[in-house]
Amino acid sequence: MTTSNTISSIHQQFLSNEKTPDFLFNELLQSIQQKDSSIHAFLHVCEQESKLTTKKYPLPVTKEMLDQYPLLGIPVGVKDNINVQGTETTAASRILKNHQSVYDATVIERMKNRGAYVIGKTNMDEFAMGSSTEFSAYFPTRNPIDLAYTPGGSSGGSAAAVKAGFCTVSLGSDTGGSVRQPASFCGVVGIRPTYGFVSRYGMTSFCSTLDQIGTMGTCVNDAFQLLKSVCGYDEKDSTSEKMEWEDLPDVTPIQSFGILASIERLNMDPFVKKMYDKVVHFLSSSYKPTTFDLNMLDCAMATYHVIADSEASSNLSRFDGIRFGLQRMGTSSEESYIRARTEGFGTEVKRRILLGTYILSNEFAGNYYKQALYAKDLVTQEMESIFLQCPFMIMPTALKMPFKFGERKDPLDMYYSDYLTIPSAIAGVPSVSIPIGMNDKGFSAGIQVIGPRFSEKLLWRIAKYIEEGIS
Ligand code: GLN
Repeated sequence: MTTSNTISSIHQQFLSNEKTPDFLFNELLQSIQQKDSSIHAFLHVCEQESKLTTKKYPLPVTKEMLDQYPLLGIPVGVKDNINVQGTETTAASRILKNHQSVYDATVIERMKNRGAYVIGKTNMDEFAMGSSTEFSAYFPTRNPIDLAYTPGGSSGGSAAAVKAGFCTVSLGSDTGGSVRQPASFCGVVGIRPTYGFVSRYGMTSFCSTLDQIGTMGTCVNDAFQLLKSVCGYDEKDSTSEKMEWEDLPDVTPIQSFGILASIERLNMDPFVKKMYDKVVHFLSSSYKPTTFDLNMLDCAMATYHVIADSEASSNLSRFDGIRFGLQRMGTSSEESYIRARTEGFGTEVKRRILLGTYILSNEFAGNYYKQALYAKDLVTQEMESIFLQCPFMIMPTALKMPFKFGERKDPLDMYYSDYLTIPSAIAGVPSVSIPIGMNDKGFSAGIQVIGPRFSEKLLWRIAKYIEEGIS
């Protein structure tokens, strides 16, 4: 964790007149210009917009202003599947090249209302399908810790931008792990909130029953501060829950925490195992560890891919080469669709559209999609039953440490990256990944703290306790 560029340290610098928001932005812009040509965290830097915004903040910054605008002058990196008015939103796909957003997503509107600004749109796996940011149609993002390694994905650009110090916090999206896994690869904190707690209005849909916008920061407080600013009910999202931050249940005394009984059988990297044991040991001095089985763990990944591919095939049908983005004229409408989609989508996206279309075809829908929804309920019930016994549980974020470019060629190998992030996504429960320790290459292991729906206040407290105690 770095402390020089946290929200509170930046605000301190504003208050003491050491820096103004405008000065900070110029510093960051310089650093982006120097370093992002090798990292490629951004697809687009909002230079003009940020310049104008940061010049407009009234000076000097006062305590009262910060009370009213808790994110005043804070630069945010935004994943390129979230609409920011006046910027290009491409979801890192060729099919949306040059697509200009005509409105702000709800999360953008809210963070701006709290005083933050968008410094740039971050790179990602195309349409958020991937775990390494290698599937961006434009270029891969490199891990700032070691450029030979991937930053994880699909929100790899958002994680890399925070780690490289190009922005203070960032927004990503997590369908099966895409905030937490890159956060763990880049050594930052990443939160997937409760399903329905953060509006997805203005986010490009991938798998609507699982998609969730999440936050990242260099420390637990920052990631939660951003979450606190963007969460809450939104009538524009039909899956939004009538819940505000203030209404979240208060933290009650904690006696125990949950750990996986079968963790030894998972083929974990020794460093991940060591850091996981360290956290278990640390927490055990205050709370009683309770072991539980997650019998559905092995089924969760298959369940996820059936649901995600099915819904992706349906959601992505709107990219027909007529309404948005890339257009290719053929001699018939069908030929025009085919040409635009063939040229516009990358291999991984095509693979999922084909699989999803097959799964949803009349003949098979009952066998696969409905079965997967049934399995989703079972995973959810199993997770819920764990939370009846203990208020939170922990597990590693990823089984393996970061991998190098081109190392995971087999799609199934890549899919295994999310083995431990998928169950909470399927159950719709919140999870925070925090970086623990550091190996000889400079990488930390991500450990997740997971709780029942709407336990964000509790997760904040536990994650901070672990961060202060051992990371
Ligand atoms: N890596 C997973 C996938 O490729 C999860 C993606 C995500 O959470 N957006 O589907």
